[in-house]
Amino acid sequence: MSQTEWNQAAGRDLMSLGGRLANLVRGDGSHVWDDEGTRFLDFLGGIAVNSLGHAHPVFVEAVSRQAGTLSHVSNYFATPQQLELAARLKRLAGTGEAGRVFLANSGTEANETAIKLARLHGQSRGAETILCLEGAFHGRSTGALALTPKAAYQDPFAPLMPGARPVAHSIEALEAAFAEGGVAAIFIEPIQGEAGVVELPAGFLARARELATEHDALLILDEVQTGSGRTGEWFAFQAAGVTPDAVTVAKGVAGGFPLGALVTFGAASELFYPGTHNSTFGGNPLASAVANAVLGHIEDEDLLANVRRRGEEIRAGVADLPLVKGTRGAGLLVGITLAAPVAANVAAEALRLGLIVNAPTADVIRVAPAYTVGDAEIAEFLDLFGRALATVADTSKVETPA
Ligand code: PLP
Repeated sequence: MSQTEWNQAAGRDLMSLGGRLANLVRGDGSHVWDDEGTRFLDFLGGIAVNSLGHAHPVFVEAVSRQAGTLSHVSNYFATPQQLELAARLKRLAGTGEAGRVFLANSGTEANETAIKLARLHGQSRGAETILCLEGAFHGRSTGALALTPKAAYQDPFAPLMPGARPVAHSIEALEAAFAEGGVAAIFIEPIQGEAGVVELPAGFLARARELATEHDALLILDEVQTGSGRTGEWFAFQAAGVTPDAVTVAKGVAGGFPLGALVTFGAASELFYPGTHNSTFGGNPLASAVANAVLGHIEDEDLLANVRRRGEEIRAGVADLPLVKGTRGAGLLVGITLAAPVAANVAAEALRLGLIVNAPTADVIRVAPAYTVGDAEIAEFLDLFGRALATVADTSKVETPA
């Protein structure tokens, strides 16, 4: 199909929700190909999803084996795959015996479940406020959207779920929000991926934990983007030394197969009871088997060590490239800040050269490659990214910071 043809087909048949950059037909490891045979180095990984890259043998084997065995049953039944995954997520999150898991199909759905958890907790205490942070992204369903304070996303859908209240990224603002009272829960991304890989101020998460405990509110961490090993730990909260009441995961947890989960700790595990929530597809044996295989492979191969090492290599490698001001994030969730608001031009030029990255904000490039990247992929990335930056620096006449 020519570019004109697939663009026309997309315009005719898909909801008009944003452009398509290429018509991709195949992937292998860290590379994907379009329908004309052009090869791209994929350093976005489906936005932090393809943790083992594309068409990894472990992923392919798990999908094929389970699809040929049992792919779906109603949630009137248990399956060994779903039980294994729940136990695995509890172990990786460190919930201990008291933890519980709800399996869903996406990050948004996991967060919706967490909102209901917050409501159950708040209702028994007369607390109706759910705090979120400025710049947060928790999803686009009407509940999760209420906790995603961005006018362009929210305004067309008003009125949204009541009770949501955004808080600035400062400990004083956090303390003031809790001091107002009536807080059922606070939702926090340990690193805000969609906002441009934004880190929280030092001590913020620990103070949020203290305040939530003090005010009998739940600390709910959204690790849809940062969880499943993306930051070099299974969960980003583990590096911060903070234990939440609940955490959500999705994206990389099944390496590209749709799956989300809510994992609860301690007393928060007792809030749901029969009839209060469920999902037709959630926890199906196919998705669960793939997640078990992907997470099991990450463990067996100690890929978290590779995530940390390759993340450092990317940070060091981009430091002296044109236009680069600095880096943010952890592990293989890297935000590269630029000296000018030209990130969209850099991403477009990178794509033209055969590199997929994205620009979550005007001056940030985000990369989130597969946990399996090695020397060759890092070298190819630095070469292509350096060339894209040089071209944009040249055409936009922006000086690289000293
Ligand atoms: N939460 C965070 C932190 C995310 O980054 C995203 C997606 O980008 C979501 C929730 C929504 O997840 P999904 O698109 O799987 O519904």
